[in-house]
Amino acid sequence: MVKVARKRVGKVRKEKIKVSRPMAEVKCAYCKGTGKDPWGVMSVLADCQVCRGKGTVKIAEPFEKCPVCHGTGVQYNTRLNCLACGGKGVLTVEGTEVCPVCKGTGKDDFRLYCPKCKGTGKVKA
Ligand SMILES: [Zn+2]
Ligand SMILES: [Zn+2]
Ligand SMILES: [Zn+2]
Repeated sequence: MVKVARKRVGKVRKEKIKVSRPMAEVKCAYCKGTGKDPWGVMSVLADCQVCRGKGTVKIAEPFEKCPVCHGTGVQYNTRLNCLACGGKGVLTVEGTEVCPVCKGTGKDDFRLYCPKCKGTGKVKA
């Protein structure tokens, strides 16, 4: 009979403390909370691609209204979801200073949103 000796090693606390941000649940801007595709392109019954039919989306706090789409979740003059916020209409804003590249608009002339501040209009000080 072989007895397996289980050595109890003093448990070293090595758990990484996950920086979990508080998440808020907000109404999906793209479908305005209906959970349906706002354009009904595929079908009027198609689920909203942003919230997948839930009508709400999760966003890490602190968040602000997306300056690129003005909180609509839709790219200006298109039916596509806003690239900066992904259609949520809100953006997690970590910066406190006005972005020097886009001057806080979140947009730039070439791309659909400012790469410097990722469309938030703010950068870290
Ligand atoms: Zn939606
Ligand atoms: Zn947006
Ligand atoms: Zn910017």
